[in-house]
Amino acid sequence: MKWEVVIGLETHAQLSTASKIFSGAPTAFGAAPNTQASAVDIALPGVLPVANRGAVERAIRFGLAVGATINRRSVFARKNYFYPDLPKGYQISQYEIPVVAGGHVAIVSPTRGEVEVRLTRAHLEEDAGKSLHEDFHGMTGIDLNRAGTPLLEIVTEPDLTSSDEAVAYAKALHALVRWIGICDGNMQEGSFRCDANVSVRRPGAPLGTRCEIKNLNSFRFMQDAIDFEVRRQIELIGDGGTVVQETRLYDPDRRETRSMRSKEDAQDYRYFPDPDLPPLVIGEDWIARVKGEMPELPEAMKHRFVRDYALPAADAAALTTSRELAAYFEAAAGAAGGEAKAVANWMLGELAAALNRAELDIAHSPVAAGQLAGLLKRIADGTISGKIAKDVFDAMWAGEAHGDDAADAIIATKGLRQISDTGAIERIVDDAIAANPAIVAEYKAGKDKAFNSLVGKVMAASKGKANPAQVNAILKKKLG
Ligand code: ADP
Ligand code: MG
Repeated sequence: MKWEVVIGLETHAQLSTASKIFSGAPTAFGAAPNTQASAVDIALPGVLPVANRGAVERAIRFGLAVGATINRRSVFARKNYFYPDLPKGYQISQYEIPVVAGGHVAIVSPTRGEVEVRLTRAHLEEDAGKSLHEDFHGMTGIDLNRAGTPLLEIVTEPDLTSSDEAVAYAKALHALVRWIGICDGNMQEGSFRCDANVSVRRPGAPLGTRCEIKNLNSFRFMQDAIDFEVRRQIELIGDGGTVVQETRLYDPDRRETRSMRSKEDAQDYRYFPDPDLPPLVIGEDWIARVKGEMPELPEAMKHRFVRDYALPAADAAALTTSRELAAYFEAAAGAAGGEAKAVANWMLGELAAALNRAELDIAHSPVAAGQLAGLLKRIADGTISGKIAKDVFDAMWAGEAHGDDAADAIIATKGLRQISDTGAIERIVDDAIAANPAIVAEYKAGKDKAFNSLVGKVMAASKGKANPAQVNAILKKKLG
C-alpha cells in the first residue's frame, strides 16, 4: 500500500528595513547583546508602537509579486505567550486579517512538472529575542536585539507532496524575496527560515495529523528533516501507533527530528487586536505606486528568455535565480550577438564552477560579461577551439588582460589562434602517422579507438591549436 506525503511550509522572511517594525531601533546584525532593544521593543510601561512604513511597503511588494490580494485594512493582534526571550509577554502579529491573502509561487516538481503552490496568507509580525546557550555555564543568556525585527510570515496551503518539492518551493521563494528586494535572504544569520508541517496519508484519505518541524535554516536540512519525519510517521503508523500533533526540532548532527513541545492551538494564545495600534489601512495610490516600481519578475523574465533567446526552460530558470545573474546573461548575450545558448552554457558551466571555487558571487566575477562575450565570439568565428577557449578563460580569470578585448589580447600574446591552414595540418598529420606506426597498424587492424588516439597525437603536436574538425577529416583521408 502506498503513502502520500503532504507538506505545508511557513516561512519567516526578515524584512530589510533599517529600523524595527514598531520602533526606531536599528536592525543591523551582529551588534553587542542588548544594545539594540529599545523600550518599545520590550514593551516597557507607557510606550507606544508605531508601524514602520518600509515594512508595510515590503509586504505590499511581496503580495503584488505573488498575485495575492492586498487587504486594504488589516489588523495587528497580540499573540500572548510566555518565553524567556519575550519579556513583554506577547508578540505583535496579524491574526484574523493579514496584510496579504492568497497568491501563488510557481515551482518545477521533479515528479509533477510545473506546479503552482498556493499561498494561504502572508502577515507582518515582530521577531522575539534570542536565547544564548553557548558561553554560559549552567545558565542561558538572553539577547533582545532581535526583538521587534520585522518579519513577513508566508504560509502555504498543504500543496507540496515531497521533500524535493518543499525545497524547490523554498528556493523559489528565497530567490523571489531577494529579487524584489524585501529580504537579504541570509540564512546563516536567520533572515530566511522555514517551518515544515508534515503529514502522511493513504491516497484519497483525509489529511493526516501533522507535525511541525521548526526553524529549518538550510535547504539541505529541510530535505533531510522532512525525509526523516516522513519515514518516522510511516513506521509509527505501520506499527499500529498514531501521530500526535506536535512541534519538533531537527538535529542536523544526528539527522533526526525530536519532540520539542505539544502543539498549541490558536485559542491558547488568546489573540486580540492590539489596542495600541490602529488598523493598518493601505490606499489604492500606495499600491499603484509600488506596482509601478516593481522590477520584471523572475517568472516573466524566464519566459522572455525562452522566447527571445531560444533557451531551454531549464537554462532560463537557472539564469533567473537572481537579478545579478540575469543581468550578466543579458549583457553577455547582447554583446556576443546570436550566441545566447553558448553564453548560457558557459555561465552555468565554466563560470559557475570558477565562481563556486573562489566563493564569489556573479556580481564580483573577475570575468565581466563583455569579456565572456568577446571570448565566445572567437569560438564562433573559428579563431580558437572550444578547448583552447578554456585556457583563454582561465587567463582572463587570472587578470592577464583587461577590457572587452581581453580574449583577443590573450589569444595574440599566447599565440593561441587555431590552425585552420590545410597544408599546415597535413604536415602535422603526416608526422604523427610516421611517428606512431604501432597505432596506425592497430587502426588498420580494425581498432576504431586507435583513430582517436591518433587525433590526440595530432592535437598534442599542434599544442591543441589545430582545428579539430579538419584534423579528423585529413587523418581519415590519409589513413585511407
Ligand atoms: P498553525 O497556525 O497552527 O501553524 P495552520 O492551520 O495555519 O496552523 O497551518 C500551518 C501550516 O500547516 C500551513 O502551511 C498548512 O498548509 C499546513 N498544514 C495544515 N494541515 C496540514 C496537514 N494535515 N499536513 C501537512 N501540512 C498541513
Ligand atoms: Mg505555525
